[in-house]
Amino acid sequence: MKAWEKNFRRVEPYTPGEQPEFSDMIKLNTNENPYPPSPKVAEAAAGLCGETGKFRLYPDFKAGALVDALAGYYGLSGEQVFVGVGSDDVLSVAFLTFFNSGRPVLFPDITYSFYDVWAQVYGIPYERPALDGDFRIRREDYYRENGGIVIANPNAPTSVAEGLGFIEDIVRHNQESVVVVDEAYVDFGGTSALPLLSKYENLLIVQTFSKSRSMAGVRIGYAMGHPTLIRAMNDVKYSINSYTMNYPSLLLGAAAIKDDTYFKECCEKIIRTREWAKDALCGLGFACLESSANFLFATHESMPAKKIFAALKERGIFVRYFDRPRIENYLRITVGTQEQMEKLGKALAEILGQ
Ligand SMILES: *Cc1c(COP(=O)(O)O)cnc(C)c1O
Repeated sequence: MKAWEKNFRRVEPYTPGEQPEFSDMIKLNTNENPYPPSPKVAEAAAGLCGETGKFRLYPDFKAGALVDALAGYYGLSGEQVFVGVGSDDVLSVAFLTFFNSGRPVLFPDITYSFYDVWAQVYGIPYERPALDGDFRIRREDYYRENGGIVIANPNAPTSVAEGLGFIEDIVRHNQESVVVVDEAYVDFGGTSALPLLSKYENLLIVQTFSKSRSMAGVRIGYAMGHPTLIRAMNDVKYSINSYTMNYPSLLLGAAAIKDDTYFKECCEKIIRTREWAKDALCGLGFACLESSANFLFATHESMPAKKIFAALKERGIFVRYFDRPRIENYLRITVGTQEQMEKLGKALAEILGQ
């Protein structure tokens, strides 16, 4: 190893789900939305073609058009909204901004696996209280001294959601630290902590355009919280890279927010397909956790998850398998279109010899 190599900041990176590209594949491995974004987004994108002259200019570093659209939609002020390049960027800035006490940040042992990666890269100590036997968060585990709390609600990859009272209990017991609630999947049947914002200055809610708004490729995420939190996040962000939000994504994001009817219909369609798929999987000998997300977390009564994962892959159907303690016999299956889920059901029946 070269002398200078010894000084590298070494990290074990987050591993995203595969992005295979071939025709006829069914991609149910990264919780993308199977439907396109609102036609209003297509219109705005077409409008961009005549506006490439604007690409000469730096974008609005305050991301005003998008911040205002989000603030208007959620009934907040612009000072309560932070936007970033996907919620991964937003969460990363939140970790860097708020978790600086030297005390351990708390999040569940089974949750979004990026949280430990950010803690490691930023040198933040952390502890991971175990979910209970039913994969539920034990709120009492978060009633102790800490340097911050991160709860995904609905949780991933379990799909399980907790109610508003549950989240409020955690926030109320932790008024000395910032509590981050990651609501990446909330639009598929979860309950947002939004009503708590007026009561708790230490609560930060993070959401994304990647799942419910069908725009994973455009990379937009946002946080909502007290102006003191948002200001601190912006100060950190402006100290690293002021211009994270490019002009096209500001425009396309604002267009998406304006089409609430399309958005709600799309979420409802996915929820209906999810419930259908859950019953179909049940009929094939799977047990699924109660899902409030756009995916199912499923385990089979006799065939190991790893084997099913490989057999599906051979048939061009991609789902997510995590080779980790406690969840090594589960598959995380994104809810696709009704047609895709019917094909999944047929493939599973074949694999299981039914
Ligand atoms: C998908 C996901 C995110 C990040 O999504 P972005 O595409 O970066 O917005 C954050 N948290 C959870 C729990 C997720 O599943």
